[in-house]
Amino acid sequence: MDLYRNLSKFRLARLAMASGHYPYFIAFDGSEGTETTYKDHRLIMAGSNNYLGLSSDPRVKESAHQAIERYGTSCTGSRFVNGNLALHEQLEHEIADFIGKEAALVFSTGYQVNIGVISSLVGMDDVVVVDRHDHASLLDGCDMSRGTIRRFRHNCMDQLERILSQCPDDAGRLVVVDGVYSMGGDLADLPSIVALCNRYEARLLVDDAHGIGVMGAGRGTAAYLGVEDSVDLITGTFSKSLASLGGFVAGTEEAIHYIKHFAKSLIFSAGIPPANAAAALTALRIVRQEPDRVERVREIGRHMKLELQALGFDTGETETPIIPIYIEDTDVTQKMWRGLFDAGVYVNFVMPLAIQGNHACLRTSYMATHSDRQLEKILETFETVGRANGVI
Ligand code: PMP
Repeated sequence: MDLYRNLSKFRLARLAMASGHYPYFIAFDGSEGTETTYKDHRLIMAGSNNYLGLSSDPRVKESAHQAIERYGTSCTGSRFVNGNLALHEQLEHEIADFIGKEAALVFSTGYQVNIGVISSLVGMDDVVVVDRHDHASLLDGCDMSRGTIRRFRHNCMDQLERILSQCPDDAGRLVVVDGVYSMGGDLADLPSIVALCNRYEARLLVDDAHGIGVMGAGRGTAAYLGVEDSVDLITGTFSKSLASLGGFVAGTEEAIHYIKHFAKSLIFSAGIPPANAAAALTALRIVRQEPDRVERVREIGRHMKLELQALGFDTGETETPIIPIYIEDTDVTQKMWRGLFDAGVYVNFVMPLAIQGNHACLRTSYMATHSDRQLEKILETFETVGRANGVI
């Protein structure tokens, strides 16, 4: 039997393309600032993770140029062997200091961090407990580990407690959650999770890809909720607020030393390129030096949530600059997405799968660099397109 028979089972994307409502792999032309273009069509960007607007900051760009001049374009190998730079270690040192942990380890993507950390730590006799809304990279890390995987309903502390109380006494336990949930913009209930981890002797890993640079003066969700000292491992990415590509894990020196020698996604993959490391380092320094930027994106998040709710949209439980718009009907959601796009506003169309069996939604997200006029234009467009589609 030809393996490629599986290809014909997937028709969804082709159907959506034929209907003119295909919302993915749009080839934008231009840098990812607050505005972008697609085939000469100008769009306000309300669907990126560039929360602080730093990916086009002249200082960040200049540091990337300088790193290329000094180190070239690639490390051409794993950090384990020839691909390690003093620049990588400087970045690790400053991340650990900022997050408030003893040590940090930089990988080439956030995805690689999560699969590498979880699969190296969780062994055959251990239990890893995940929130059902956890990011795919965390779930993949669990699948790659040889431990037992248990899932709890999103932020359901009763179910988490039941699972932890049922773990065998001699099993190591790791609870894995996102700090900020990337689609809903809501937060993990970290104070309760920390209390349960303490009660049932579980270690806690928080993926704060969307919290670093945004929550807790940029130091993340655990710092925002005052529990940073009780979280064992914090993972994050450079591909959002830190304006680059790459990721990190921060924790005790002993844990980082172990992960460094056992995470296959670190050891068997080339080190983060110099330009990316330098851009992340400069962005990190800007986050520390310019707290107003962090405050501005939070303020915009609060403002847009209230305004979208006032228009009659269902924005769920968000507490961040990620604001989802929940619409019951997937077809209407798709039409709404297209209407916004044609009217000059780009948002993310989120398939029901990505939010675990709920409805499709439109994910909007904001940047510290959005102007008041751009925010007004987004709201006006949502009002017009929402009315035209009978959503409000
Ligand atoms: N964790 C979360 C919560 C994310 O949203 C993402 C990126 N979408 C990642 C991890 C992976 O990050 P990266 O882009 O650096 O691979």
